[in-house]
Amino acid sequence: MKFKPEQLQKLIQLTLETREDDTIGCDGCSQMMEQFAQAELDGVEISDSLAVVRAHLDQCRCCRAEYKALIEGLREILL
Ligand SMILES: [Zn+2]
Repeated sequence: MKFKPEQLQKLIQLTLETREDDTIGCDGCSQMMEQFAQAELDGVEISDSLAVVRAHLDQCRCCRAEYKALIEGLREILL
């Protein structure tokens, strides 16, 4: 399947729009994920640097699955 240039343009625009708040990407997310999970489990307030992790998790299905597995693993260790 071949895209016309204007279709590609639209696709790029859509991609950019959905990633508006996502400043860290999957790499940054996986680096911060443990810290974020820890804060979540401790019930401490999420700082700005961790809020971007939450924003990414809201938008990224694969990171969300990873995060869920991490949280469940941590809960098992801690509880
Ligand atoms: Zn991701």
